[in-house]
Amino acid sequence: MALDGPSPSSPAAFSPWPDRLRHSAIILLVAALALGVLVLRDELLPFRAAAVFLCIAAAALVPWRLHSAVTTREDVFRGSNPVEAPAVNAVVAGMPDPVVLLDRAGRVIHLNEAAAQLAPALRKNELAQFALRSPEIITALREAIATTEPRRATYHDHVPVDRWMELIITPVPVPTAFGGAEKCMLMTFHDLTPLRRVEEMRADFVANASHELRTPLAALSGFIDTLQGPAKDDPRARERFLGIMHTQAGRMARLIDDLLSLSRVELSAHVRPDATVDLIPIIHQVADGLEPLARERQVKVEIDLPETPVTIAGDREELLRLFENLIENALKYGASGGRVIVSLTSAVSGEGTPEIRVKVRDFGPGIAPEHLPRLTERFYRVDVGDSRAQGGTGLGLSLVKHILNRHRGRLLIESVPKNGATFTACFPQPKPPFGA
Ligand code: ADP
Repeated sequence: MALDGPSPSSPAAFSPWPDRLRHSAIILLVAALALGVLVLRDELLPFRAAAVFLCIAAAALVPWRLHSAVTTREDVFRGSNPVEAPAVNAVVAGMPDPVVLLDRAGRVIHLNEAAAQLAPALRKNELAQFALRSPEIITALREAIATTEPRRATYHDHVPVDRWMELIITPVPVPTAFGGAEKCMLMTFHDLTPLRRVEEMRADFVANASHELRTPLAALSGFIDTLQGPAKDDPRARERFLGIMHTQAGRMARLIDDLLSLSRVELSAHVRPDATVDLIPIIHQVADGLEPLARERQVKVEIDLPETPVTIAGDREELLRLFENLIENALKYGASGGRVIVSLTSAVSGEGTPEIRVKVRDFGPGIAPEHLPRLTERFYRVDVGDSRAQGGTGLGLSLVKHILNRHRGRLLIESVPKNGATFTACFPQPKPPFGA
C-alpha cells in the first residue's frame, strides 16, 4: 500500500518529539534572537519586547497543544480517531483480501468486508486480540507494535469449514487528519486453504498409490518365498500359487496402467482434442470387447445407438478408455440386475448448449447418495473389498472425469439405491458450419 509520509524505519515517523513542537521551538528561538537584537540596539523597550515574545509564544504553542489534545489515545477510545480519513478507509475497503487497520494498542480502526466475513467478531474500536483469540496472533501483534517490524502468524478457522490463513502484521505510519503520522498496524490475511488442500491431496495420493502397489507386491514375494521353500516339491501348491501370483501381477499392471493414463490425460488437460471421431463405432468396439465379461456375469447388454454417425472433437484412445470404464463398472457392480443399457441421445445442457449424451444404465444395487459426490476422487471406492475382488483400482471414474474435462464435457451420476445407477458422459456438440 503506498501512503505519503515517512517510512516506518525513518526516525521522524514515530519520533517522541513531534514535528509541530520542533517548529514552534525554532520560531521562538528566531523571535527571541530578533527581539534581543532590537533591545540591544535600543530600538525596543525590554518590557515591550517581552510582551511581543509572549504573543509569539502563545501563537506558536497553543495550536500544538490543541492538536496534541485531540490526538491522545483517550480520544481514539471515544471514536474520534485522527486516522479515520476517508482515503485510508477507501484503500482498506478496496483490498480484495481481508485487511484490518489497527491502532498501536491493537484496536480496530478500519476493516474491509472480506475481514468482517472472515472474522465476524472483529469490530471497529474494539481490540483485535479479543476477536482473534489466538496466542500466536497476540504475540505477533505485540512484537510488531514493539519492534515496528512486520510479523507473521497463522490463523486456522474451523467454522463453517476448515480454513488456513497466513496473517501478516505490518507497522505503517498513516497520515492523520491533523498532519503528522499515526503509527498503525496493517493486518492482511492470505488464504492458504487451496495450497494446503493440494498438498494434502498430493500426500494422500502418494500414500494411496504406494499402499495399492505394496499389497500385491507383498503377496508376490510371500508366494515366491513359499515356492522356493516349503512348496518347492509340491506341484499342486505350485500351480495354485502361480495362479494367485498371476492375478496379483495383473492387478499391479492395471494400477500402473491407470496411473500412467491419468497422468497423461492430466498433462494434456489444457489441449482440447481436435480430431473428428465417430462415437458409434467406438461404443460398439468397447461393448464387443466386454462381451466375455457380460457372459461370465450373465448380464444382457442392450445397445441403443443411432444408425448414422455421431461425431465430436475427441481422442479415440481416451474415448475407448472412458466407455470401457463405464460399461465395465456396470457389468461388475450392477451384475445382479442382469441388464445394462447403453444409449446415445442429443440434449441441451443447463446453459442452453447442445450436447451429446452417452448413458450407461444398470439395474444393480445402486449407490447410496452420500458416496455420489466422491466417486470421481482417486482411489475412492464404496466398498474397498468388493472393488479389489472385482480387480478394480479405484482410479476408473477419476480417469473418466479427467478425459471428459479434456473434451470439455461432464459426467452425470444418478442412482437410486436398489434400483441401479446411471452414468452419463456429456460431450459438447460441434457447432454446425456457418450457413448450414
Ligand atoms: P474401481 O476400480 O474400484 O472400479 P472406479 O473409480 O471405477 O474404481 O469406481 C469407484 C467406485 O464406484 C467403485 O469401487 C464402486 O464402489 C462404485 N461404482 C462405480 N460404478 C458403479 C455402478 N455402476 N454401480 C455401483 N457402484 C459403482
